[in-house]
Amino acid sequence: MNAFEALGLNEQLVQAVTDLGFEKPSEIQEKAIPVLLSGTTDFIGLAQTGTGKTAAFGLPLIQLIDAAQRHPQALIVCPTRELCLQITNDLEKFTKHTKGVYTEAVYGGASIMMQIRNLKRGVHIVIATPGRLIDLIERKAIDLQKVKYVVLDEADEMLNMGFRDDIDFVLKNTINRESTWLFSATMPPEVRAISRNYMETPKEVTVGKKNSGNANIDHQFFVVQAQHRYEALKRLIDFNPGIYGIIFTRTKADAQEVCERLAKAGYDIEALHGDLTQQQRDKVMARFRAKNLQLLIATDVAARGIDVDGITHVINFELPDDMEVYTHRSGRTGRAGKTGICLSICHSRETFKIKSLERMINAQFHKVDIPSGKDVCRKQFFHFMDKLMQTDVSNGDYETYLPDLMEKFANVSKEEVLQRVAALEFNHFLKYYENAEDLNRNDFGRDRKDRRDNIRGDFKPTESGNRDRRGSSRNSGYTRLFINLGTKDGFYKASFLQFILDESSLNKEVLGKIDMREMNTWVEIDSAASSKMIKAIDGKRYNNRVVRMNEADGGFKRPTDEGRGEGGARKRTYGPPKERRSFR
Ligand code: ADP
Ligand code: MG
Repeated sequence: MNAFEALGLNEQLVQAVTDLGFEKPSEIQEKAIPVLLSGTTDFIGLAQTGTGKTAAFGLPLIQLIDAAQRHPQALIVCPTRELCLQITNDLEKFTKHTKGVYTEAVYGGASIMMQIRNLKRGVHIVIATPGRLIDLIERKAIDLQKVKYVVLDEADEMLNMGFRDDIDFVLKNTINRESTWLFSATMPPEVRAISRNYMETPKEVTVGKKNSGNANIDHQFFVVQAQHRYEALKRLIDFNPGIYGIIFTRTKADAQEVCERLAKAGYDIEALHGDLTQQQRDKVMARFRAKNLQLLIATDVAARGIDVDGITHVINFELPDDMEVYTHRSGRTGRAGKTGICLSICHSRETFKIKSLERMINAQFHKVDIPSGKDVCRKQFFHFMDKLMQTDVSNGDYETYLPDLMEKFANVSKEEVLQRVAALEFNHFLKYYENAEDLNRNDFGRDRKDRRDNIRGDFKPTESGNRDRRGSSRNSGYTRLFINLGTKDGFYKASFLQFILDESSLNKEVLGKIDMREMNTWVEIDSAASSKMIKAIDGKRYNNRVVRMNEADGGFKRPTDEGRGEGGARKRTYGPPKERRSFR
């Protein structure tokens, strides 16, 4: 008997996974599928990324659907558009042999009318991002009364992104659900709270150790002086010529600057950041997925939901502030049984973080030296020679040229030819690394440069990149904006955030503090992005109301100064919109 069949899956589903080349269930699939097929048990599945969670919930979900009932029976909520599309895509493959089960993805940043139309055609499984889902619920464009199964995928990510209120809202609005399935890589207290509030004696399954790193990942770290960060990164890339990797930075400015420098130096790299249009982003992702792009550099926010197989290296240009983020970053490699390497460039002050990471993911980190210039050259050299020897010459008509070639090189020795080939390829390398310094920071003492602790490496700090996000309100890099939308318009902080970001195609990182009131909201935004935001939002209509967005008066006076009047509210105007653009 096929191992998937043994779990209780029907013939059509077994055929579909066989078509996909799945030979046997992964551990989480083995543990989840039989339980979920009952349809009435609440379930918590904790497993690292890349362990096959989508099929673990997707397959039983499809089997539980009654195709004759053309209304939403299952709802899958996930953090990002990218993931939403990916899950939809996977489910469509799983339903290949199952007749008449329809899925629909709903997410922000795409035409809501189109999604509403598609929903009306009668779909069984809705895959949604929280913001758009709530929008649809409020417009009464989706009927959740008959939803029996709710799946929360990447629950920890959703909570990290501030979707807590939205998840509460969704769970409160699916009153007839028979079971709730929660999947997550980690189990922070916020996720625990959701299960306590909305789930009934859930069956909990953990694959691997809780919060544990994937055993297929080799964690390495490098200790360098802050101003050598970029150079160290470059060396690590050069030392791994076949690399197919993602580099993570903490700020968008770093991602952009590092990307520019590396691209200028001839590296095959693109940055993912919020300034890209969805189309540009899709294009970059398609190139990366197809391995037509070797390196991707991104912030955590921009990289959310990216799931690409075969990543050889994840590089942390800086360690993340939040240790759980490390698990997510490193989980991009070592997927589907393959091995992967996660490299972290650290400052000597950060070595304590390594200790706590080791405890958290229960894996050892290896301290490795940044390769010397010589090491890099040797590695590149042999890589090139291997490539030379593996070059396929069977396809071209090289024989035609051979006599001429032989004649031309008649008086040149093999050694000389090899030397010249090597020189052609390597002169720039050798030159670059000729006087390369040792980047390793081995004395853990402190010199003055070090004390400045310039985490931005050799970049000049810019206003937008080097600020302390938490203390944002006093920061001159921010502009405070006023918007005449608030909780009365049905927004929660997270749905509001998603709304203004979707509309403006800006990245979450440009935002500072958000103060939401009943009628109005104040948002702090990176001054450089403020006009783009205003242009995107001001004058539009929302629920038949003209949306006003403008710079709040009074600099950074906080609207929370109770009793001082509503700060920017004075600017509130309901005049006719400059331009009658509509959301619908
Ligand atoms: P997760 O959601 O846990 O991060 P995914 O569901 O995205 O993981 O699966 C990761 C990869 O593993 C996908 O490419 C998927 O097609 C593949 N996969 C899933 N289950 C199996 C299986 N049983 N056998 C082989 N490959 C699988
Ligand atoms: Mg997943």
